[in-house]
Amino acid sequence: MASIISPKDLTLMEAAFVIIGGGISGVSCAEQLTIEEPEADVILISASPLVKVARNINKISERLEEFDVEEESHTYLERHNSNCKVVTASVTEIDDEKHAIYLSNKQIVRYKQLCICTGAVPKVISENKSFILGIRDTETVEVFQKRLSDARRVIIVGNGGIAIELVYEIENCQIIWAIKDKSVGATFFDAGAAKFFLPSLHEGKQEVSFLSKRWKYELEGSSQSKSAMGSALGPDWSVKVNLNGKTVEKRNIHIEYECEVKAVYEREEFLKKNLKTFSDDAEVLDSWPVYVELTNGNIHGCDFIISATGVIPNTAFLHKNKFNYAEDGGIMVDDQMKTNLDDIFAAGDVCTASWLLSKHWFQMRLWTQARQMGAYAAKCMSCYIGRGKVIPDICFDLFTHVTKFFGYKVILLGLYNGQKLGKDYEIIVRSSERTEYVKVILQDGKMQGAVLIGETDLEETFENLIHNCLDLSMYGEDILNPDVDIEDYFD
Ligand SMILES: Cc1cc2nc3c(=O)[nH]c(=O)nc-3n(C[C@H](O)[C@H](O)[C@H](O)COP(=O)(O)OP(=O)(O)OC[C@H]3O[C@@H](n4cnc5c(N)ncnc54)[C@H](O)[C@@H]3O)c2cc1C
Repeated sequence: MASIISPKDLTLMEAAFVIIGGGISGVSCAEQLTIEEPEADVILISASPLVKVARNINKISERLEEFDVEEESHTYLERHNSNCKVVTASVTEIDDEKHAIYLSNKQIVRYKQLCICTGAVPKVISENKSFILGIRDTETVEVFQKRLSDARRVIIVGNGGIAIELVYEIENCQIIWAIKDKSVGATFFDAGAAKFFLPSLHEGKQEVSFLSKRWKYELEGSSQSKSAMGSALGPDWSVKVNLNGKTVEKRNIHIEYECEVKAVYEREEFLKKNLKTFSDDAEVLDSWPVYVELTNGNIHGCDFIISATGVIPNTAFLHKNKFNYAEDGGIMVDDQMKTNLDDIFAAGDVCTASWLLSKHWFQMRLWTQARQMGAYAAKCMSCYIGRGKVIPDICFDLFTHVTKFFGYKVILLGLYNGQKLGKDYEIIVRSSERTEYVKVILQDGKMQGAVLIGETDLEETFENLIHNCLDLSMYGEDILNPDVDIEDYFD
């Protein structure tokens, strides 16, 4: 294969395909490109020396996949893909007219087509770096771990996946968990599922063990959810690190519902203001280095605050380019992962899917979607050479996500929280304490989404039911009757 990269030329490099970002979207894009375009040169530029690789991929159903994410040295990609070169440096600027990328190490990389996969950065509640931590990558976890080992109490702000994991995994440290919703984990579940998890939350990590009941309820209001850096962490990151504080008490979690952070005071300022803490415990009143005032009026002292309030697409280095941005700050991409600028694509957390989305799919900044978008962008880039179009991948038909919360397997399908459905839908739930929680969302007799917690074995059937839009009215609540073998009807 003729290489257009001259090893002697340290300042100028050139490739048909260039990717920025060594996270899961960038790596899956590079890997797929080497398959689609085995004769072309591919350069991946990453600010982090390690790249993220998906391993142990387990296909659960047509659209559901479980996988581990591992960190590999940049040479891994080069060893496995002979036409791929990895450059470790930060991109400082892109000249989209000249098709040139400027790097922190003074190199320039020219591209024919470019895919931006620079992920997202934590949205922290305030810039007070001494007392507020945002967790994103291995480096921030190391800082967090060190701080935690010396902490008696932490305040976790946020109600998404990262906050849930932290609350479950941290031990030997008091936790105050401040959430803006009425129930925990509202990004992923309704109040019923949150109730199912509450015992695990307070008891902590242990093995889970039937008493089945089903019920159906109409909505009261809407149950819709209100809801130089490294790559983002991924599944099981919190299990692999020691998250122990320094108290002897194993678990003590206090949840503050429906509130946000109003102010953060360092100790001196707090004392000067003569404010009172929630517990008003004279012994500990003065002893905290930082205090958080919540919008419900409660004030809590703690050793430090963990801000887990979501992410913002990482686009700061693109300020000179005229990309179209979506409301959430992501670079808008069409159904070919193409941005508005010539020959530039984007994938993963940095982009916002801005095509006419299929009814049962929506974007969430998750591993699975980063990997799917990266690989799909590669196919689109390859096809774009001849100005062709790729038929959108089936992964964009229906939202699927498999994860673990509080030690339970969790599968989310379609409009699992009634997203996009307004108030006009019904919910059927089956729950067995400490074993499983199954919720389906139905509209006009058709299944729109489902939450499956525990080993339910229903994922494949439900995925098909949602996708095929079958009218299930005649089954009523029996759709979740454990004595009715639903697969026999529909498989
Ligand atoms: C703590 C935490 C836990 C999470 N847990 C889960 C989970 O359990 N399940 C799940 O599905 N998702 C989880 N996520 C979300 C998931 O990690 C992200 O959706 C996913 O990593 C996005 O991949 P990406 O490739 O788009 O971006 P990233 O993985 O963030 O990679 C971005 C890459 O771009 C590089 N980069 C950035 N700027 C530049 C620049 N200027 N120049 C060169 N390179 C640059 C970075 O070095 C990095 O290599 C979690 C996220 C966090 C932070």
